[in-house]
Amino acid sequence: MSLELDRPSECEVYDKAIEGAKINLEIATSLIKHISSNKKQEVFSLGFPDTAFYLPLINALFNKDIKNIEQLPEVIDIARSFIKAKEDLESALDSGISSLITSEIIEAMRYQDFSDTNPGWQGFIPDSVYRALGFALVDGRIPAIAVILGSASDPESSVSLIRELQTKNILSLLVGESKGITFKSQLEEKRVSLGLDSYIVPLGPSATSLIYAVNLISRIAISFGGVEKGNLHNLLHYIKGRVMAFVLCLGELDPLKVSLLCGIMKLGLPVLTDHEISYSKECQDVLDNLLLVEKDYSKIISRAIIQRGIKIKIDKIDIPVNYSAAFEGERIRKEQMHLEFGAGKVVSFELLRQKDIEKIKDGIIEVIGPELHQLQEAKTHPLAIVVDIAGKKMQLDFEPVLERQIHRFLNYAQGVFHLGQRDMNWIRISKEAFGAGLRLKDLGKILYAKFHNEYPAIVDKVAIFLYTDVEEINRLLPQARQTYRQRDERLSLLNDENVDRFYSCLLCTSFAPNHVCVISPERTGLCGAVSWLDAKAAYEVMPTGGNKPIERGICLDNEKGEWEGINKFVYQNSNKTIERLCIYSLLDSPMSACGCFEAIVAILPEANGVIIVNREYDGMTPIGMKFTTLAGTVGGGKQTPGFMGIAKRYIASKRFISAEGGIRRIVWMPKGLKEAIREDFLKRAQEIGMPELLDKIADETICTEVNPLLEFLEKVRHPVLTLDPLL
Ligand code: SF4
Ligand code: ZN
Repeated sequence: MSLELDRPSECEVYDKAIEGAKINLEIATSLIKHISSNKKQEVFSLGFPDTAFYLPLINALFNKDIKNIEQLPEVIDIARSFIKAKEDLESALDSGISSLITSEIIEAMRYQDFSDTNPGWQGFIPDSVYRALGFALVDGRIPAIAVILGSASDPESSVSLIRELQTKNILSLLVGESKGITFKSQLEEKRVSLGLDSYIVPLGPSATSLIYAVNLISRIAISFGGVEKGNLHNLLHYIKGRVMAFVLCLGELDPLKVSLLCGIMKLGLPVLTDHEISYSKECQDVLDNLLLVEKDYSKIISRAIIQRGIKIKIDKIDIPVNYSAAFEGERIRKEQMHLEFGAGKVVSFELLRQKDIEKIKDGIIEVIGPELHQLQEAKTHPLAIVVDIAGKKMQLDFEPVLERQIHRFLNYAQGVFHLGQRDMNWIRISKEAFGAGLRLKDLGKILYAKFHNEYPAIVDKVAIFLYTDVEEINRLLPQARQTYRQRDERLSLLNDENVDRFYSCLLCTSFAPNHVCVISPERTGLCGAVSWLDAKAAYEVMPTGGNKPIERGICLDNEKGEWEGINKFVYQNSNKTIERLCIYSLLDSPMSACGCFEAIVAILPEANGVIIVNREYDGMTPIGMKFTTLAGTVGGGKQTPGFMGIAKRYIASKRFISAEGGIRRIVWMPKGLKEAIREDFLKRAQEIGMPELLDKIADETICTEVNPLLEFLEKVRHPVLTLDPLL
């Protein structure tokens, strides 16, 4: 079929978009021919690694599961149909969709032949990573995604652009080149560290690698947003409305780039370029909101942010190093370290105490003992961080919730590394940060500012004490340990029966509009990050936020955990899609899942039990599905009886699927998961009089298939053999 098109006058966008789409279509078509003729196999399988979404954009657009090359000609025909013989901008934007489709085909071909992948570039973003990113986008740790296509005019500019994005916690995805130079190489030349931890991910050196950003977004729309596959209208609507992303196109604009950018604009996302591009008057209305030319690098990011309506919270704290969430994952190796505290070698602890409002003076930041420059370099020292908080709404229950934030607050500082909690923490200060003038006093400033900024509703006064004086530390340590003990006791007394209300968490509705987490003392939110106490504290901090109390009302089923009040709340807040919720049941109206779950419980009827698989485990399970495949069926805010997303902590809870018999039903869990929950699990197993239960649960070192599993269960006389049939 030939595509003879007339050009509308003076519209470079239109001209180039159509040309680029045709070129890409041509390349994809000949690649398919080339590969199919070269390889002798009859069916040639195809796909990206570690995903349950096949070719995710094509999957989202047309609900097609592309698994082999034979299926591609059909997709090529669809891509061709998006290049229309009409002379308007809409056709140009549609041709962009064609280019995105053909780019996904071209990039998938790369994975055909593994020698062809690009070393040093991420390429396809696997499901486990996109889910983690999705979650960070939900809770605002990452306010937006910036896709950078091409390269800046010089390496200095690329560094200043990336630093601006980092301090705003925006995730940068690097794609393509300009005049043979990549943005990645510019950053490397300036020794900027790349990687997800630094919020900079190089996707691929060719323009078609843009698809990796797009198919990340399409998966977010499907699994977090509950958009049905094959529903183009809803997909576009969701991305346009909810996905905070934009593209910076730096350097010259060739036809393929323009065509891909048209695809981006069709998705409703803005594009900013540093190169002039002309377009006709007729195109202006549409393009005005989507295509911006900005040659001044100092303005380009803020224009993108305003254009997309992105909300950025900036932490301005007067310290000599950078401060932002983008530095949270930064590691400090031994050679880079000035000195460290704790590390399991010497005493180091952190304690947050509620104080009487009259008894503390706000703004005190004291270092008791030698400052950083007076401590011996390269050694491990003792440290005590004591944070005193007073506030009209402060409660004893909030102490641990707030104390846990110390980890995050300190890690945000560039050159500061914090691990662990309570009296098991480990803090490193980098040489660079020390050289820049960072001192312990600055850590105090950070804590002071952050507690005030993030918790204004419960925190009125903050005083910080940092002890390096060994005598003082030893004097305080017993007090700290006693506090930790008392907290644990309080926590263990807290249960679903003795509280009057549960809490909701609606944080994930921005991605999964129908999902509601119901959080009780004995069932943590499925992401593992929000406990009942966290939710309670969050409600006090911000009554209009994502955590609200739920009055349980009349109990309808004690066993399954069904209450009238909860049903009503969930129905209202799930856009009337979930009518009943039994919070202790896997089979009858189980909790829905957004996509952030730490693990999945799945029924294994043959064994009359359940398996649990955690996100970190990427091997096969006895139900014949890997975590990623399972995750694809569980997420999206739906209830899927027999399958449920959960927090790891929930497994050892008394209420873990208690309607179906609790932990007695678990027949298989990956070894890593067993280890992670061992201590709590053993305690729970003791309580039910089955101290050996954990050893009777199989893992991947024993089997990953059903039959050997059944044999194993017989052999160890697993309690599941004596339980009532599940189905
Ligand atoms: Fe999302 Fe549930 Fe975690 Fe809240 S508790 S952040 S709704 S997964
Ligand atoms: Zn979630």
